[in-house]
Amino acid sequence: DTYLNPNYSFDNFIEGDCNRLARSAGFAVAQRPGLTSFNPLMMYGGVGLGKTHLVQAIGNYITNHFDNKLVLYVSSEKFTNQFINSIRNNTLQEFTDFYMKVDVLAIDDVQFLSGKEKTQDTFFHIFNHLHQLGKQIIMTSDRPPRELQGLQDRLLSRFKWGLTADLQTPDFETRIAILQKKIQSEGISIDYDVIEYVAHSVNSNVRELEGVIVSLMAQASLTRREIDVELAKNTLRNIVMNEEKEVTIDTIQEVISDYFQITVADLKSKSRKKEVVYPRQLAMYLAKEYTELPLKSIGYHFGGRDHSTVIHSIQSVNLLMDETPDVEETLLKLRSYFK
Ligand code: ADP
Ligand code: MG
Repeated sequence: DTYLNPNYSFDNFIEGDCNRLARSAGFAVAQRPGLTSFNPLMMYGGVGLGKTHLVQAIGNYITNHFDNKLVLYVSSEKFTNQFINSIRNNTLQEFTDFYMKVDVLAIDDVQFLSGKEKTQDTFFHIFNHLHQLGKQIIMTSDRPPRELQGLQDRLLSRFKWGLTADLQTPDFETRIAILQKKIQSEGISIDYDVIEYVAHSVNSNVRELEGVIVSLMAQASLTRREIDVELAKNTLRNIVMNEEKEVTIDTIQEVISDYFQITVADLKSKSRKKEVVYPRQLAMYLAKEYTELPLKSIGYHFGGRDHSTVIHSIQSVNLLMDETPDVEETLLKLRSYFK
């Protein structure tokens, strides 16, 4: 298991002035891992600007083009947790051996290592070992190395051995291209004037841009309307201006039932069918997240259940989230309807 997600590729990464250096350096590294002077390759930028996408694209490219290269992608969070577990289980040696035998190590969001001295010590050794053998190291961070407080100087100085490239907020043309790509991948069609309107109105990051498309689709299906500029205006007004708009338990139940193609009555019913239980658990989970209602009252809104059922539902969702990544994705989609 290399933890790579095959959906991230260079083909579906839109290039623009905002990311040209990082993309081309990344592509050079992907074609000749360990052989360019971009080692380590450090890419940094704010949230949702494509760091994970790019680093995974590099990993996938290498995996697909080289038979004998072992690529490992890991978030710094996961690296830290694995390290802690290895201490607890007395398997530190296995842990470091595992990392030291890879050909390409991609480690995402290194700002997360901040303040974790022991983890940094071990990462430092792994880094040195791999680098000496000419193995490729790729890192991402949410800020430039010089602003990475809580990271050891010896690590920071190594980060600068290779190339540091930043990812910036996409310009208008790139935003248009990104929206078109997202629309295409959703398999829908949206008029150009709508795309242009959205590209003009949203200029924060790529994740939000993509989120607007999801919201538009949701809004269109909930209101049974076409996606036109009018709908886009309404949707964006809700997203941009009504940030603290209250989400009620009724809204949550409506959105969930619409999303899962069941009825609100199903949610409140005694049914234990899988098709109903999971949506009901998600609905309770979101009710806890969005409303101030006490658990007892949340239970009351779901067919008079008691508060322990609500607690159990929330725990079930948390457990599921650890097991299947889809759950998190579903929650993200659902939340986008409330924004
Ligand atoms: P980060 O890791 O920097 O927070 P991600 O790589 O997770 O950001 O990107 C957020 C979303 O935006 C992902 O769905 C990603 O595929 C998409 N994305 C980001 N940049 C681009 C781009 N240049 N072209 C296409 N999609 C992009
Ligand atoms: Mg990321």
